[in-house]
Amino acid sequence: MFLAFIRYDMKKSKYFLLLLLFVPVLFFVGCDEKTKAKNFYEIDAKYSESEQTLSCNQKTTYHNNSENALSFVSFFLYPNAFLKENNAVSNSYKEKAYPNGESYGNITFQKIQIENCDCEYTFGENKNVVRVNLKEKLFPTEQICIEFDYVVSLANINHRLGYGENCVNFGGFFPIACVYENGFVENQFANNGDPFYSETADFEVKITYPNDFVLASSGVQTKFEDHTLCKAENVRDFCFVLSKNFSVIQKEIDGVEINYFFYDDEKAEKHLETAAKAVTDFSQMFGDYPYKQLSVVKTGFCFGGMEYPNLVMISDDAREDFVDYVIVHEIAHQWWYSLVGNNEFSESFVDESLTEYSTLLFFEKENQYGLSYDSLVENAAESYKNFVKIYTKIQGSVDQRMDRNLLDFNTEPEYVHCVYTKGVLMYDCLRQILKDKTFFRCLKNYFNDYKFKIAKRENLIESFSKSANRNLKPFFDSWLDGKVVVE
Ligand SMILES: [Zn+2]
Repeated sequence: MFLAFIRYDMKKSKYFLLLLLFVPVLFFVGCDEKTKAKNFYEIDAKYSESEQTLSCNQKTTYHNNSENALSFVSFFLYPNAFLKENNAVSNSYKEKAYPNGESYGNITFQKIQIENCDCEYTFGENKNVVRVNLKEKLFPTEQICIEFDYVVSLANINHRLGYGENCVNFGGFFPIACVYENGFVENQFANNGDPFYSETADFEVKITYPNDFVLASSGVQTKFEDHTLCKAENVRDFCFVLSKNFSVIQKEIDGVEINYFFYDDEKAEKHLETAAKAVTDFSQMFGDYPYKQLSVVKTGFCFGGMEYPNLVMISDDAREDFVDYVIVHEIAHQWWYSLVGNNEFSESFVDESLTEYSTLLFFEKENQYGLSYDSLVENAAESYKNFVKIYTKIQGSVDQRMDRNLLDFNTEPEYVHCVYTKGVLMYDCLRQILKDKTFFRCLKNYFNDYKFKIAKRENLIESFSKSANRNLKPFFDSWLDGKVVVE
């Protein structure tokens, strides 16, 4: 996601590392996890414009890839983030989010069944998850098909899920299996950042909608008379957006179809070109984009943009001189989050810091945009220093840890500065230490080691250490745990 951006002056900055030890060590990265069987989601979704609802039948084939016998399976219920009591947006974003006054949404289940028998189920606190009880234990390597019938009520909100003036957004509309670690990881809702965490799966989603709408979606579409079938394989999530106002332009780059869905955009061709360049550049820098299409979708959204596999949302509220930046940031997320997955709630820096730094790498390569790498880094340093100065004055001290869960950030500016801005400084510092050849090898190897998988803090550090052939744990620890002083 892109929350906000910061402009600063251009004074020179240096990093002072309080803790920086380099011990050449050969690491053996533990990324040889056995190939996991993917879950499969077959969803039949019908959108009602008059009721602003999405009625779904969903059959999820769930594989027990854990080493434990399971008595229930947990699914994250993002639509319930829009219940009144869950405060989908903070006060500072309410005006943008609710053009017609506050509005709420949720998901309600008609039935949850296994083999045509009703299942018992319970909800988590805040209704963040549904836990479906299994009549018989599901043993390791076994699979089970769970069938849901549910209705998603949409809030009138410019957000990942909800309807606005021009578009209807369907981010996170369906129950998605929680990742199993030492138990199911049941993320809390957070109105700051992206509270998502899931594994790659296969999707077949049939979407029925009035024929005056245009559909943008993850995966590859096949249109039928009264519906569209979307197939997406090996993706971490599935999203779609409907609008009566969409125009579409497209171009093909190295076998990937890049689509731009937009309204009111005189620079549409330029924005499509930016998207195509981002796919080309990031494919060269990190590794190939493995899917057939990517859709960049202009829509109503209270933040700058949001990433989903094969689809990124770009806010129609983003300032014109900033649209390219948001497009590049969200497309970088295709590599960092969509492909190399992580828990965006508990370790948001894993994807967000590297995504923001990757955005700078794009503008370093594409100098026709007039955003020089050096000035972007200097701006980040200046902004970070100002943040520390101001917050020290107000609060007496500043928590500078990058590695915190979303609810542990006290304010949105604290989150943006610690994760995005400081993330840029961390990777710039690492690049200066390792030099370009090694640094870019680290990025390529990290992508290759963890694409379609999950990376945690220790995986990222081990992968970079192995590629650089030196122990980078003290470096990363000092930044992530807030010990580095930026001066
Ligand atoms: Zn982001």
